[in-house]
Amino acid sequence: MRIPCPFCGLRGHEEFVVDGDATVTRPAPGRPDAPTAAVRFVYLRDNPAGWHREWWFHAFGCERWIVVERDTVTHAVGRVWSAGDPAPGEDR
Ligand SMILES: [Zn+2]
Repeated sequence: MRIPCPFCGLRGHEEFVVDGDATVTRPAPGRPDAPTAAVRFVYLRDNPAGWHREWWFHAFGCERWIVVERDTVTHAVGRVWSAGDPAPGEDR
């Protein structure tokens, strides 16, 4: 699998470390169901078949975090962008 790093160009996946689902967000600590939401945030993840957004770290390259849209069935790579930036074509 080859990943087009927005900073380095096309690189092999072995240069990266994947850190899972890029769509989950830390729950606010003051919400009424905070303990349950915190457990869900830390321990529970979906395992989708199909397109998915994931955090990747270019450990043997620019050492930056990026978001990769990847098909978990075919390993096709879609859009890739710098973490912290909105997805291309999407508002924050
Ligand atoms: Zn890079």
